[in-house]
Amino acid sequence: MTILVLAEHENGVFKKTASELLGKASELAASLGTDVAALVLGDAPAADLGAFGAKKAYQVSGDFSSYQTDVVVAALAAGVAAAGPTAFLTSASYLAKDALPRLVAKLGTGFGSEVTSLRAEGGALVGRRPVFSGKALCDVKISKSPAIFSVRANSFSQPNPGGAKAEVVAVAFTAPTERLTLVERKKPETTAVDLSEASRIVSGGRSVKSKENYDAIIVPLAKSIGATPGASRACVDAGYAPHEFQVGQTGKTVNPNLYIAVGISGAIQHLAGMRTSKVIVAINTDPGAPIFEHATYGLVADLFAAAPELQKRFEKLD
Ligand SMILES: Cc1cc2nc3c(=O)[nH]c(=O)nc-3n(C[C@H](O)[C@H](O)[C@H](O)COP(=O)(O)OP(=O)(O)OC[C@H]3O[C@@H](n4cnc5c(N)ncnc54)[C@H](O)[C@@H]3O)c2cc1C
Repeated sequence: MTILVLAEHENGVFKKTASELLGKASELAASLGTDVAALVLGDAPAADLGAFGAKKAYQVSGDFSSYQTDVVVAALAAGVAAAGPTAFLTSASYLAKDALPRLVAKLGTGFGSEVTSLRAEGGALVGRRPVFSGKALCDVKISKSPAIFSVRANSFSQPNPGGAKAEVVAVAFTAPTERLTLVERKKPETTAVDLSEASRIVSGGRSVKSKENYDAIIVPLAKSIGATPGASRACVDAGYAPHEFQVGQTGKTVNPNLYIAVGISGAIQHLAGMRTSKVIVAINTDPGAPIFEHATYGLVADLFAAAPELQKRFEKLD
């Protein structure tokens, strides 16, 4: 019995979701009496994952830097076949959103997507996921093996690394013939952490009134606490922020430790993307704004005065 964790990396550097998942898997494995293993696609220091509890690291060789759905699904299937896990955990990343439903269909098993917590119950894993735009929570238990779950970033705390090394097991893999041709790969202009993995986010709403204001108020406020800038759809539609910054039902789903909503009303479609944030701070001139019903801390204030003041104070904290 093994809990297998997909350890995603970028150019050989493991994402923090890899250690978050391995830490949680170790905790669950202890209560289930199972082992933890990691799955690594491509070139990355797989043995290092032992520091977060992986006994073995199954490494599929190949170049996965230009994402190809068919190739990634086949590589995941090869890794899962080699490890033979009872459960397979991944981050709810783009890879998971695109590749996992196909893998699940291929393996004929069940899938709990975007869970925000996992527990061991009756010898199996149970995942809890928000449904109906986060208005309700649903427990998912999968009767087939391997039980596959994708987990939102920041759902679990970062474990402290130990000194152990994982035994690296090379997985033989022949990539299928690619059915897609990669024409071009464009990097996002921003160097900030991807919103869906960010642990701090500062989002601006329509009320910032212009792109210049967004760049002069929201971006530096975010920078002052190492946060990733985000935006409401109204802000994006008005052209104040790029589309990849949009949080919500038709934007990104985020799960940060801190979400600061600056001049955002808190429409249901916005809440759908951010209501699982651990701490929500809202700045709004309207004390009746719906966002305040979900905020941990609320500031009834004009963003043009409050945001720069907060930024100044945050910068002094260092
Ligand atoms: C199918 C569908 C999908 C959608 N998907 C999304 C989505 O993914 N993400 C999303 O965000 N929205 C989405 N929307 C749109 C959503 O319904 C709202 O229209 C949008 O979230 C509103 O953005 P906002 O809060 O910036 O603007 P508004 O609703 O206009 O709110 C602006 C807020 O700023 C406050 N304010 C004004 N001036 C100041 C000031 N000087 N200082 C401080 N506060 C001030 C106001 O009191 C108000 O609360 C979707 C809608 C539909 C129909």
